[in-house]
Amino acid sequence: MIVFSGRKVAKIKEFTDHTQSCTSCKAFDLKVKVFRQYRHIYFIPFLPVGENAVDIRCNVCQAPVLTESLKKEYAKTARAPVYLYSMLILLVLLLTWIGYGINKDGKDSILFVANPKVGDVYIVKDYQKASSVWYFLRAASVAGDTVLVYHSHLQYAGYVNTFNSDDYFVKSEQLYYTKKELKQMLEKGEINGVKRDYGDYEGFNRLK
Ligand SMILES: [Zn+2]
Repeated sequence: MIVFSGRKVAKIKEFTDHTQSCTSCKAFDLKVKVFRQYRHIYFIPFLPVGENAVDIRCNVCQAPVLTESLKKEYAKTARAPVYLYSMLILLVLLLTWIGYGINKDGKDSILFVANPKVGDVYIVKDYQKASSVWYFLRAASVAGDTVLVYHSHLQYAGYVNTFNSDDYFVKSEQLYYTKKELKQMLEKGEINGVKRDYGDYEGFNRLK
C-alpha cells in the first residue's frame, strides 16, 4: 500500500508585541507569528516535527526583525496544538477499539462455551490429513452436560467467521459433545469463536 504523506507548516500562534522595538524604525509594534512543521498523512496532521519557527515583522514599516534571541523567546510562547496529532490520536483510538473488540469476543466465547444455548454456532478448526480445515457446528439441543450439534455442510480451507451463502447445517449429521469437551476445544484453540444472537441474514438458521 502506498501511503501519501509529507510535511506541511501550520501557523500555531499570532500576536502583537508592544514591549519590543523594531530594529529599523524603533516602533514598539511587532507582529509575531509562530509556525510549526508537521508530518501529515493524506493531509491529516499526524505529528509535529522539529521546533517552532518565528516570523517577526514591524507593523509600522513592515521590515522583518531578525534578532535571533527575540525569535527564541517568542518560539517558547507556543506549543504544538493537539490537532497536529489528529492522525496519531485516531490510530490510537482505532487500535484501542480493535483491542477491545478482540478482548470482548474472547470473553464472550468463554461465557458462551461454559453455558451453551440452542442455536450457538461454534467456529471449529480441525487438523485433517496434515492440513487445517474450518467448519461450523450449531448447538441443536442442550441436555444436562451434553450438547448435541449439527455439522455444517461445507468445510473451509481457511479461517472463516461467516457462513458461505450455500452452506447449511446438516440435521442428519449429529454429534455429541460434553460441556467439558467444548471447554477443552476452546482452550486448545480448536474452537475459534462462538456466535450467538446473530441475525437471520447470517444464514446460521439454515438447516436441512
Ligand atoms: Zn519598523
